[in-house]
Amino acid sequence: MIDVLVSGAAGRMGREVVRALTAAEGIRIVAAVDPGHDGNAVDDGAGGEVPCTGDLASAITAVQPTVMVDFTHPDAVEDNLRTALAAGVHCVVGTTGIGEETLLELSQAAPQTCLFVAPNFAIGAVLMMRFAQEAARFMPHAEIVELHHDRKADSPSGTALRTASLIAAARHTVPAAPGPETELARGARGALVDNVRVHSVRLPGLVAHQEVIFGGEGQTLTLRHDSIDRTSFMPGVILAVREVVSRTGLVIGLENLMDA
Ligand code: NAP
Repeated sequence: MIDVLVSGAAGRMGREVVRALTAAEGIRIVAAVDPGHDGNAVDDGAGGEVPCTGDLASAITAVQPTVMVDFTHPDAVEDNLRTALAAGVHCVVGTTGIGEETLLELSQAAPQTCLFVAPNFAIGAVLMMRFAQEAARFMPHAEIVELHHDRKADSPSGTALRTASLIAAARHTVPAAPGPETELARGARGALVDNVRVHSVRLPGLVAHQEVIFGGEGQTLTLRHDSIDRTSFMPGVILAVREVVSRTGLVIGLENLMDA
């Protein structure tokens, strides 16, 4: 049995994680933490409930989990990781908004544990990023449009940041700017991430979606992935929980576990 603490258990992703881990063989939820929901319980999807507590450090001391799964908030995740890693707890992180330098520093301070971070746990999104990397070698002109629900705290999405950095690493040349541009409304051309334009759309009704559009002479190529339900992320989360227990150090991206 792998004993797991779910951090952010009462959130949109956290609730789905509780249900998925409850149903997963060989995994047991030993604690659910969410400061805003101390004393409440989360439906485990199997006819039971998992009680939520508010303080991560005391939950870790009380139940000594092997793995922490964190889907919280960009402002909370770093502290959560410091607490868990210092206690020797392997971490599976879906929360976005934490920089690679910070992750490296956190992981170096806890060399015996594994810090696994995935900007996207959906297999289709991982494949989209892989195909984008391949396409960028031949079609260096690319822009990213990411679309998410209107409660998302950060923009651009972690997936868009990761895709931009993969495109930048894969293409041989940075395409020249199309010429002088006049932005009549600020932000119309999106944000520049690793020299790739990224446009963020936030609307109710959306879950998590991304298009990568490549332009070439007389043609375009569009790669699109849609997470239409948060269950799309769960096989990736379960795989990560199973994998981190036999690894150490910082691992970024689900693709590194899928190739295992
Ligand atoms: P959400 O619904 O706001 O859930 C976050 C939960 O964490 C909330 O219940 C929040 O409580 C709680 N929280 C805040 N601070 C906390 C702390 N210090 N310790 C424990 N829990 C804390 O957000 P979500 O949609 O589930 O998304 C969570 C994160 O996952 C975001 O960063 C999102 O971008 C990311 N995400 C990643 C993937 C992926 O595949 N990697 C997929 C989807 C989402 P309050 O509401 O009281 O603040």
